[in-house]
Amino acid sequence: MKAVYPGTFDPATRGHVDIIRRATQIFDGVEVAVVRSSRKELTFSAEERAALVRGSLEEAGIRVAAVTIFDGLLVDFMRSAGHTVFLRGLRAISDFEFELQMQLMNRKLDPGITGLYLLPSEEYIYLSSTLVKEIASRGGDVSFFVFPCVESILRERMAR
Ligand code: ADP
Repeated sequence: MKAVYPGTFDPATRGHVDIIRRATQIFDGVEVAVVRSSRKELTFSAEERAALVRGSLEEAGIRVAAVTIFDGLLVDFMRSAGHTVFLRGLRAISDFEFELQMQLMNRKLDPGITGLYLLPSEEYIYLSSTLVKEIASRGGDVSFFVFPCVESILRERMAR
């Protein structure tokens, strides 16, 4: 069985990669689906975000089936790609309410799909892309939170 891991990945962190690593140990194939636009204000373009997911996975030595950019509804993307399972990471309790809403809405849109939730290793449970950008913009060391390819682009982008 294969699964899709959707998100904005703005940018990919070691928390995302931890979830992907766990997923690849369970599923036959994992597709990372980078959503093109979001309600959130994005720092990186969809192409950059996808490239940083690919770069982080390469640096981590993890192989996935594909890293794809998609637009529109997740259920439509899943239907067109033949997926029935999507994965999400759960951090501290703050993620739960949003994920509950998202899963139930997606089920209404397509009862054939199921969301599964994975917990990262505890050192990443409080890690978010937003926090990483905040630390980088203030000149902090983010090497514990992101892979080197992300660290270097963050340094360059945040210096502007
Ligand atoms: P979103 O898709 O909500 O815009 P992200 O792209 O940052 O958010 O994250 C994609 C998925 O990965 C979400 O399910 C999010 O909860 C999860 N995630 C993000 N950071 C971590 C982390 N440090 N540990 C575990 N899961 C995470």
